[in-house]
Amino acid sequence: MDNSSKYDIITMGAGMAASILVINILRERPGTRVAMIEQSTEFPKKVGESFSDVTAIFFNRFDVDHILKRQQRKTGLRFIFHDEATKKISDASDYSSPSILSEANGFQVNRSTFDNDLLTYAQELGAQVIRPAQVIDFNYSAFNSQVTVKTGEEIKTLRTTWLIDSSGRQGIVSKKWNWRQPANQLMTASSWAHFENVKKISSIDGHKSIHWDKWCIGDRHYATTHFMGEGYWVWTIPLSDNTVSIGIVYDQRILKTNGMHPKDFFFEFVKNHPSLSELTSDAKGTGFKHYPHLPYTSRKYREPGLALIGDAAAFVDPLFSPGMEFNCQQSLWLAPLILDHLKTGHYCERSWSKYEKLFSQAFEDRILLYEKRYALMGDQELYGLMTQLDFAGYYTFVIHPSVVFPKLLKYPARFNPIIRPFYNWFRNRMLFLYWKRKELGISSKVNYRRKTFSFARVPPRPYIYFYAQFLSLLWLTRYVRMELAYLFHMVAFFVPRRIKNEAS
Ligand SMILES: Cc1cc2nc3c(=O)[nH]c(=O)nc-3n(C[C@H](O)[C@H](O)[C@H](O)COP(=O)(O)OP(=O)(O)OC[C@H]3O[C@@H](n4cnc5c(N)ncnc54)[C@H](O)[C@@H]3O)c2cc1C
Repeated sequence: MDNSSKYDIITMGAGMAASILVINILRERPGTRVAMIEQSTEFPKKVGESFSDVTAIFFNRFDVDHILKRQQRKTGLRFIFHDEATKKISDASDYSSPSILSEANGFQVNRSTFDNDLLTYAQELGAQVIRPAQVIDFNYSAFNSQVTVKTGEEIKTLRTTWLIDSSGRQGIVSKKWNWRQPANQLMTASSWAHFENVKKISSIDGHKSIHWDKWCIGDRHYATTHFMGEGYWVWTIPLSDNTVSIGIVYDQRILKTNGMHPKDFFFEFVKNHPSLSELTSDAKGTGFKHYPHLPYTSRKYREPGLALIGDAAAFVDPLFSPGMEFNCQQSLWLAPLILDHLKTGHYCERSWSKYEKLFSQAFEDRILLYEKRYALMGDQELYGLMTQLDFAGYYTFVIHPSVVFPKLLKYPARFNPIIRPFYNWFRNRMLFLYWKRKELGISSKVNYRRKTFSFARVPPRPYIYFYAQFLSLLWLTRYVRMELAYLFHMVAFFVPRRIKNEAS
């Protein structure tokens, strides 16, 4: 084989992660020889439909308006809580974050059309798409790897300088080389389907507020709405084709399925849930899918001439829509690193090692973010406080800096050495209070018709420099108020008992 038949880059898998990397590369260096190998004839509707703020900023700068305009604008985040007294959605409590017009406004994407449009764009920029074709093996050699591809009955071998594993959870490289590490600190599983005929939540939730009705960029029906309970959360994501993606993520140590088949468990759960059942009473779900264990990381993320991107590298938890966020940030690192090597022939070990360290820490930190969090999900106030702290940190250290200094967008959210122990302490405190408040019967009160707003947003420029402090102060005020109320309840509960005991 001569070098003219050798590609600069081959991606094994051509989903969203592969396409954004290739688009970045081909825009910067047209003429780069790229082959994208994809096994499916058409992308199915898959999970990974909701943009986070980082994803939104990335795509709003990525100059793909022609692709985004086919998708649904996302209007915010809602977390809805219930208890035994909740018979309908209008009785439920709500912690929410409406989207106010800014650079961080995102989309709810139908991944079937979205991934396809991105791939078509990569092709228009010059990538060769080989589809349907399956990668059946690869032979790694630094900057000279071989990929064995099966197309119909034909098997051929392709050569490449850079081999990119973008095969999603299949993880061609990490499975072959034993790099994949299941993250057993989290015992989460997930099931989902796409539903037709789901009611518009804004027409039945009885929620009247200026935040949603006047300031938000659209109807709250198009927000990602989460239905929360002890040990689980359920997402509902409305898509542009009028279907709604509904799925559950649950901690298997807390929410027990009692041996039921995951599909039966999921549809029974939706049918019997106090608020979800109201939304879906006339709805029908199809395309059921289940992952028995969600989180995993990787021991390594690269070798000279080889890199993992997207779910082929790692995936922790979908609660804050981090999948596409990490893919976007990885592509902001990988594209210049690969291009630098293709242009100069120099492999900068220092930069690659920095990239690998940064993302392995970011994935590990995500585990800390979700560890033990599932127990808290049944309490609007405590869960809201936890999330308010997350918002304060995310906006202070990631979103606002990225808006002011665009190059910072590529740095994934991580805990610094001061915040990490503090976060651990705070989460443990929330857990302690959760069990105590349950004993005292406080949690059920906060789950009844209580509406709280996060106020998280990207404000206009002069305010952005102070807004992070405002979010932190808001969190602190709510936290102190909650502790004081708890103290008051403790006194009200124990003092009369003590007096009674002493009297008897
Ligand atoms: C329950 C759940 C909910 C989620 N929700 C969100 C969310 O709301 N927002 C968000 O941002 N992220 C979310 N994610 C994460 C998101 O789905 C993923 O991070 C994202 O889809 C990863 O994209 P990818 O391109 O790496 O992988 P994929 O989209 O899986 O693409 C991989 C491609 O590789 C192809 N392929 C695989 N093996 C081969 C082979 N041998 N030969 C050829 N082709 C191959 C596949 O056909 C596929 O097209 C969620 C994840 C889960 C599990």
